[in-house]
Amino acid sequence: MSRYFSGKYASLTPYVPGEQPKNREYIKLNTNENPYPPSAKAIEYASKAAKSLELYSDPDCLLLHKAIADNLGVKASQVMATNGSDEILNFAFMAFCDKETPAVFADITYGFYPVFSEINNLPFRTIPLKNDFTIDITDYYNAGGTVFIANPNAPSALALSVSEIEEIIKHNPDNIVVIDEAYVDFGTESCVKLINKYDNLLVTRTFSKSGSMAGARLGYGIACESLILDLFTVKYSTNPYNINSMTMAAGIGALEDWNYSEENCRKIIETREFVKKELSALGFEFTDSVTNFIFAKHNSISGEDFYSKMKENGILIRYFDKERIKDYNRITIGTLEQMKEFISVAKAITEGKI
Ligand code: PMP
Repeated sequence: MSRYFSGKYASLTPYVPGEQPKNREYIKLNTNENPYPPSAKAIEYASKAAKSLELYSDPDCLLLHKAIADNLGVKASQVMATNGSDEILNFAFMAFCDKETPAVFADITYGFYPVFSEINNLPFRTIPLKNDFTIDITDYYNAGGTVFIANPNAPSALALSVSEIEEIIKHNPDNIVVIDEAYVDFGTESCVKLINKYDNLLVTRTFSKSGSMAGARLGYGIACESLILDLFTVKYSTNPYNINSMTMAAGIGALEDWNYSEENCRKIIETREFVKKELSALGFEFTDSVTNFIFAKHNSISGEDFYSKMKENGILIRYFDKERIKDYNRITIGTLEQMKEFISVAKAITEGKI
């Protein structure tokens, strides 16, 4: 830390993204990326947009908001696109939390939530997941702050139903409930349809996972118009041109070709179910994932050793050095071919051959 770094950040612990090593070719199963390339239309539209990079991008994102709204059956005025869903989440912490309104989230959830709290100097309260990593919804009734729930949750890979989410929203009439649907397209029902019923619901989503566009950095929020206006106030006070023209165009292209992304999600789900069967046969335990990753542990090998052995053998998975989950690894679902290779290395590790 330099002597000029503001004291207000002295104790900040930044979020640690999954490794993106360039020193060798790995099978990358560590950051929940989609193994399939983006839609050809997304690439085509982004390339066309690149020809006008001398101009600022549209700060109102009109065409993109309309495309997202049409895709979800909501109004364009109920949508705000951001630089990845990380940005809409950060904006939500900025807009809807303060000293009297702490952020409230699970102890095991997306690791960025505490960081967003800390960088914005906001108090937060964590609620432990149950032993099986499920959520007891009554723990979130009258939470006394802004609730953040990843649904499905990460890294636990489990989801609440829309009716359970609705109970949480109903039991927090004076606070915002943010539902982070980064992984919703791999088999969970979205609660976007509740935004017309509740003015205290913000749903956040991303093109990073189901849309194969993690590198484009495109996410968005969906909520009633008054919440979207609040978020616009924060955006226009932070970075009005938060989405570059190529990403905006790529998002529109991806939505025009959304069947392609749906087909990729279907393949990933099928591969996930194959991997579950194979992991069971090797003696792994895991939650019944509804996401594009599996959260698994083995009784005879530690999470850290399994991660290291996988890495030595060219496969990256995600290990979290955190008390409750240190026996586990989070394994992204790649192509069937990649996952067959993963299973064969996992078999060799569990048999003590490597
Ligand atoms: N929410 C959850 C639960 C995530 O795991 C991630 C990805 N790391 C994000 C949000 C943010 O994704 P992005 O910024 O790529 O949209």
